[in-house]
Amino acid sequence: MLSSLATGVYAGLGAAGGLGLAAGGYAYAALWPGSRLFGEALIAPPRPGELALTFDDGPNPAWTPRLLDILASHDVRATFFLVGSHAQAEPELARRIVAAGHLIGNHSWSHPNLALTGASRVQEELARTSKTLEQIAGAPVRYFRPPFGARRPVVFLLARSLGMVPVLWNAMTADWSEPSADKIAERLTHRIDRLERQSQAANIVLHDGSHLDRRGKRGPSVVAAGQLLAAYKKNHRFVTLDAWG
Ligand SMILES: [Zn+2]
Repeated sequence: MLSSLATGVYAGLGAAGGLGLAAGGYAYAALWPGSRLFGEALIAPPRPGELALTFDDGPNPAWTPRLLDILASHDVRATFFLVGSHAQAEPELARRIVAAGHLIGNHSWSHPNLALTGASRVQEELARTSKTLEQIAGAPVRYFRPPFGARRPVVFLLARSLGMVPVLWNAMTADWSEPSADKIAERLTHRIDRLERQSQAANIVLHDGSHLDRRGKRGPSVVAAGQLLAAYKKNHRFVTLDAWG
């Protein structure tokens, strides 16, 4: 995917391809997590050995409780980017996440592609979610991750105006469609180890929920999280995102 995008950008550098560069560049900036064209987002600092486990799209009554048990058994805290409408449906579970010492963040109210959503609706998606999460947690929500990583300048501006730091990631695999926990853990391990060789901390995304199904099956992702904890706990430090800014 990266090479085809790069090819598109280079192809657009010719004068005749100016429009192509604009369109290709926009798609790249809107969807590629490492892109910084649309303002600063928190990804991960140059601190090899630090790992942030982040879980998106919950709370999920079918799988989040199991995940909380696994995290507790390792005495590790993680960051949960909650879908506002899911949190409203499961306030006790959202409260349990906070009570266990985990950090919660805003992942929008209904998980739309915010690169394609009008500014007033983006504002509503973010503000409604923060209000609901703040009522549940009793504290301001400081972190926001855009659904699908999709954004445009106004999305980050609105998030910042609501007091939140936009967050992306640097370690992800398609855990939502992979039936094997071993494969999920193996792919993430490969990514984490490469980041470490590059002297970078790892901001790892897994999904304990599904934006399409409030009780979506997330067994492989939850089991993979346990495998990563077992593999890295001895020689690495697991942190929540507030350790990074
Ligand atoms: Zn999501």
